This record gives sequence, C-alpha cells and structure tokens, in this order.
Amino acid sequence: MLSIPICPEGMTAKESSILEEIINNEFKGEFVKASFHHHTKYSNEWLNRNATVEFVLREAFKNDIGLLVVTDKSNDQFFDELKNLSGDYVIEEDDNRVIRVTDKGSGKSLYIPRAMEFHHKKGHMLLIGYNKKISNLEGLDLFNLADEVHNQGGIVIPAHPYATFSGGVGEYNLLQMLTRIDAVEVYNSQLTGPLNRFNEKAKKFAKEKNLSRICSNDAQLPVDSIGKTYMMFPKELINTNNAQDYINSIKRILYLTKNLSFYNKIAHETPERMTDLIKWEALLMYGKALEKLKIATNK
Ligand SMILES: [Zn+2]
Repeated sequence: MLSIPICPEGMTAKESSILEEIINNEFKGEFVKASFHHHTKYSNEWLNRNATVEFVLREAFKNDIGLLVVTDKSNDQFFDELKNLSGDYVIEEDDNRVIRVTDKGSGKSLYIPRAMEFHHKKGHMLLIGYNKKISNLEGLDLFNLADEVHNQGGIVIPAHPYATFSGGVGEYNLLQMLTRIDAVEVYNSQLTGPLNRFNEKAKKFAKEKNLSRICSNDAQLPVDSIGKTYMMFPKELINTNNAQDYINSIKRILYLTKNLSFYNKIAHETPERMTDLIKWEALLMYGKALEKLKIATNK
C-alpha cells in the first residue's frame, strides 16, 4: 500500500508500483530529463538571435535532455525547421506533432514536440503537442484556444501565471480555466530572488486545486542554458509508440506525479543562475536600445 494517497483514480499496477518505488526512494529504473520552456531565435528578440536549431540540439544533447520543449513567442517555426534538418542528426517526425532527434555521433535520442508560448492578450500559454496550425490563433479567446489545442490532442499550461507583469494570466483567468488546463507552471526559473514569490503562489494554487504542475526554464537561449531546471520522468511510463501516445503519456506522468513535491528535481537559485539573469536582462535592454536606434536611424 502507498503511504500517501497520490493519484487514486485508475492507476495501473505498473504506475502504482513505480510511484511507490519513487516515494520510497527505491526506484531503480531510468529517469528521462524533461526540460520545458525555451526561447530561440524564433522568439525574435535580439538576445536570442544566435539560438539556432543546431545550437539548441547541441546544448540539449550535452545536458542529457530526453524531452525538450521549445516554446517560442507565438510561433512554432522551430519545429518546422527541425523537421527538415539534415547533417549530424537523424530526424524522425510523427503526425506533425513529435520529432525524435538522434545524434548520429553518440546514438542518443531526444524528443521534441510541436509547441509554442502563445502570447494571448490575457496571458501567456504554453501549448504543447498539438499537430496542426491553429487557425485564427489571434482571434480565439482563452477557452477556445485551450479547446482547440485539446481537440488536437495537445497540452495547455499557463506560463508564470502569477507574474502578470510579464504576461501571466493572473488568478482570475486561472480560476476561469480550471477545467481547461492540464498543468500549471509552478516554477519558472526566471522568477528568482524576490520574484520567486510568484512561483510560490502558483505552487499553492496548484496544490489547492489539485492540478498537475511543471517547472520550467523560460530559458533565453543562448544566454541561458538548457536543463538548468528540469523534471525527471520515469522512462517506463513514457510511451514512444507514436506521437499522440507520447504526448498522452507525458500528460499522464504530470498527473500521476502532481503531489510528489520532492520528485521534481530542480536545479535553481544558484549564484550562477542569478548571474545569468542579470546578464540576459542587461542584454535584453541593450538589444532593445539597439532596435530603437535602428528604427530611429531608418526614419
Ligand atoms: Zn511568458
């Protein structure tokens, strides 16, 4: 018997035994490192301009990532470019939804789902694992947006929901969307120091409402790196039969592990992390100033 009631609804014997082993610190199976929420050159910020697809793959393999979620600002061009990549990697795409990338050199593989951070006027949403262009993306309200992603078999997660100053949807919208989100981003590694209180609020909300959770990087590549904040998913619970099964199994793992606070291994709040934050904010300001200058001189 499990000592803590975790996810009593419909757990399989396999799931139950794996979770029990994890809780009792007896899990001998393999974990996959899942790194969420990264910005590349397709986020169109000056500071991201050198975060090419090749750079991102190199970093991800270097950091042993098994699931990489790239979420550029309101677009998924990263996925489309990746689909056609050749060279050092074997690219296997399924259902326009998930790509398995294998590094020819090391033979290692990682999975990348189609995803984006949509900047809805009401707040930023991480949309993961859908498979079609969402039509009228800009015109949808939050409900319809979530429904559309779900109809396409994807996952909907509000990003940094309490950090409304940087595009979080805020508590009102969170409450409205309770049944339409698959998880809450309860740890965003950009929210360090005093800003960490926005993570704490999201964590509390997810706990109270019994929602699944993710922790993420919100990495501004290439200034930040991949996998500073990551989650560990038991490999046995990840279904790689096909793209939709893969996405469903990720959603399922988030659900199964939602109450295991110690389970999300988070590497954050290191001095190095703070330096990065200062570094990229400075670069962001520098880039904005450059853009302004360009606009001014073009006039
Ligand atoms: Zn955001």
